Amino acid sequence: MSLLETDELYVEYTSKKGVTGQEQIVRAVNGISLDIRRGEVLSVAGESGCGKSTLAKALMKLTEVKSGEIFFEGKNVINLKTKSELQDFYKKVQMIFQNPYSSLNPKMKIGQILSEPLEINTKLSKKQITEIVEEKISQVGLDKSALNLYPHEFSGGQRQRIAIARALVSEPELIIADEPVSALDVSIQAQIINLIKYLKDNFNLTFLFISHDLSVIRYISDRIAIMYLGEIVELGLTEEIFQSPKHPYTAALLSAVPQINQNNKIQQVKLNGELPSPQHLPSGCKFHTRCPYVMEKCKTQVPEEKFFSDFHTCKCFLYP
Ligand code: SF4
Repeated sequence: MSLLETDELYVEYTSKKGVTGQEQIVRAVNGISLDIRRGEVLSVAGESGCGKSTLAKALMKLTEVKSGEIFFEGKNVINLKTKSELQDFYKKVQMIFQNPYSSLNPKMKIGQILSEPLEINTKLSKKQITEIVEEKISQVGLDKSALNLYPHEFSGGQRQRIAIARALVSEPELIIADEPVSALDVSIQAQIINLIKYLKDNFNLTFLFISHDLSVIRYISDRIAIMYLGEIVELGLTEEIFQSPKHPYTAALLSAVPQINQNNKIQQVKLNGELPSPQHLPSGCKFHTRCPYVMEKCKTQVPEEKFFSDFHTCKCFLYP
């Protein structure tokens, strides 16, 4: 059952161009229809600049949506306006950011950081809040003594554990994790990924996991969405995507990861050129400027979604 759904979601914003200061429209999310099912880890993968983080912000109501719909537990998120509606939404949907240090107030002790959302948004007693905070800090693998320390007294990995504990205190149903390990050392990344997997398996949490790292994504995900220039071009179960990628862009991303490549013997696809700017989106299939299989119709016509299984879809003219 879907916990969150989007329907034809578009997000665009204006940015100023170079020294001229001329305003340009950045089309970051272009018609995304996606569902996140209760209890799963759905990952969104793609190169930097493909719109992954803008999608995450739109789902969290941190950026304006141009058109389309977002439903959380059947309720239209875009229409949530009152304080109590927003409080309820942010209690159930939490976000973890790439840089844990900048997301923790350096002047507050960890205990205060974790207590604050409960003091503001609930009527729980001080004792109840302390119990919850102690429970959450231990769930993320830190000792209770951490609550009396400041963020700067922790390593990067420990700070990300604290950021996860802060997300957990409101007992959320969905956590949106935007590149949560990419700022960490490789040795620490595995610990945080294992923690997320543990939380998902033991507390029935649902995650939208955003990353450019396919090795990490393979380990943690139930399903994977491949994003290119603001569109989902392929979506499927993890093993469908890794064993039998359909879209040339997915195959190119997998080709670039040596350890995945060796094990799967996937078709080698080399990307031509750079990711086009979202200010100047290509016509037709947006991947046509880089696709080794490009045909004439790809330059002017937009491919429709094709189904390969109940879960596996792809948008590409290579498939009739
Ligand atoms: Fe390549 Fe055409 Fe498929 Fe786009 S539709 S991925 S350009 S073959």
